[in-house]
Amino acid sequence: MTEAIKEEIIELINICRYYKVGTEVIRALRGVSLKIYRNEYVAIMGASGSGKSTMMNILGCLDTPNEGDYILNNNNVSILTDNELAEIRNKEIGFVFQTFNLLPRSTALDNVALPMIYAGYGKQMRFERATEVLSNVGLADRMNHKPNELSGGQRQRVAIARALVNNPSIILADEPTGNLDSKISVEIMGLLEDIHKNGNTIILVTHEEDIAFYAHRIIRLKDGEIESDIVNPFIRTFEQEQLKLVEEKV
Ligand code: ADP
Ligand code: MG
Repeated sequence: MTEAIKEEIIELINICRYYKVGTEVIRALRGVSLKIYRNEYVAIMGASGSGKSTMMNILGCLDTPNEGDYILNNNNVSILTDNELAEIRNKEIGFVFQTFNLLPRSTALDNVALPMIYAGYGKQMRFERATEVLSNVGLADRMNHKPNELSGGQRQRVAIARALVNNPSIILADEPTGNLDSKISVEIMGLLEDIHKNGNTIILVTHEEDIAFYAHRIIRLKDGEIESDIVNPFIRTFEQEQLKLVEEKV
């Protein structure tokens, strides 16, 4: 097999992020450098306090570093204003969170269509696209349900549809299965697997080994530094895990 040409989508160059708390300085990221290529599936692991969320916030253009450069799609985003960052974020990145972060009083359809309002799409277009994406995640029959009328797994599917609605190239998922039981977690990881197969770049933050092993590359943080960065030799798949669940039952 010939190796596909790797296109760099993310480069972190010596990223430092400090927090001042009173007179103390907490060095959450201490010179992190890495490259992520288009259509990679990367897990970021590390103990609590190792800097995962800080790194995720920077990767997601929710925060900027104190030092270093972040090159996203050939743009140096570490020098952009908050408004410019918001625009890039809405266009390039889809977020999936542990707690789903859906608007409680809005239907699944309205939750999914929301990022399209910020992107400036008209009502008809929003309706059609949100309907399409919700159908793709298996929720064609739940469009008009509000979050409290959906199960945890269904809520996370709505959140994933919302992350995909503007066709971002990158999906950032922060502990996406943290609030779900193991059977539903497998389904959600299956959905992320499909999204990866469709060409998206996926960055998954997790402290759970069995979730990280769905990724193809695993980066471990320790005390704000990269401790290891390996190709995953044992990639988990939805199909495999599904079979295991069936076997456990018999
Ligand atoms: P993780 O997500 O791996 O648990 P974080 O990125 O949240 O780690 O935190 C890394 C370090 O930075 C921790 O020591 C944490 O206490 C500190 N930290 C994170 N956010 C802030 C903040 N807003 N203010 C002060 N310290 C923070
Ligand atoms: Mg965290």
